[in-house]
Amino acid sequence: MDKILFVMCSAFEVLGMHNKVKMHCCSCEADTWQQILFEKSYQYPSDEEYEHCSKSILTECCGCEQPHYRYRSWMQKKDGTEKNMEDEWVFPPKQLRKKPTWYRGFAFYSVVSTAGEGSTEKEYVWDLLREIHVSLENNCPRLGVMGLRALLEHIMVSKIDDQMPFIKNLKEFQNQGYISKMQKEALGHVLEIGHAAIHRSYNPNQVELIAALDILENLIETIYIFVEKAKQIDRNVPKRKGT
Ligand SMILES: [Zn+2]
Repeated sequence: MDKILFVMCSAFEVLGMHNKVKMHCCSCEADTWQQILFEKSYQYPSDEEYEHCSKSILTECCGCEQPHYRYRSWMQKKDGTEKNMEDEWVFPPKQLRKKPTWYRGFAFYSVVSTAGEGSTEKEYVWDLLREIHVSLENNCPRLGVMGLRALLEHIMVSKIDDQMPFIKNLKEFQNQGYISKMQKEALGHVLEIGHAAIHRSYNPNQVELIAALDILENLIETIYIFVEKAKQIDRNVPKRKGT
């Protein structure tokens, strides 16, 4: 911070004026007008033709009152022209894909019911799934597919003995009835894209990450969510006489 040439406090902050900006609201899930509550800009000294600038704003959605923080940085000529290399970071980030309806319930069930059968396994599954969602929201598709591959392997090995290599695990996973033939083919693609990101420098896009996440969340729902729901139904339904 000692290299900061000067700090420009916002005119709005100094003069008490109000200003708005249109930004994506993570709560409304739409672009909304947001009140700028705080704003600060920085310029960093440089002997080069270009200098580094950044700007931070704190906003509040005019619709739902959700606060957001946005940081932008860029390089520009010293006369203020020719901006380039712009970078932007917003918190909370925009959700590219809605989380499944069971997501929060699974988190509660996995973390709170620590005394239950297989709770450590469920807690691990939930925690790694949460990290994969963070990679999606922060535009890190390579980390996302690597995480999906690791999560798939963890789920398979926790249910069957490790067959080595992965493709044999997948076959055994199907043989033991955890997945169908169609699911096996789909999960094979999840393994392959993760493998390509790790070993072949493949850089998937967000659409591919979302597709792979869809496939794996379908598996998690089948193995962990549906099983618990079926047990709940079984507990509530009166038993037949004589059985
Ligand atoms: Zn809002």
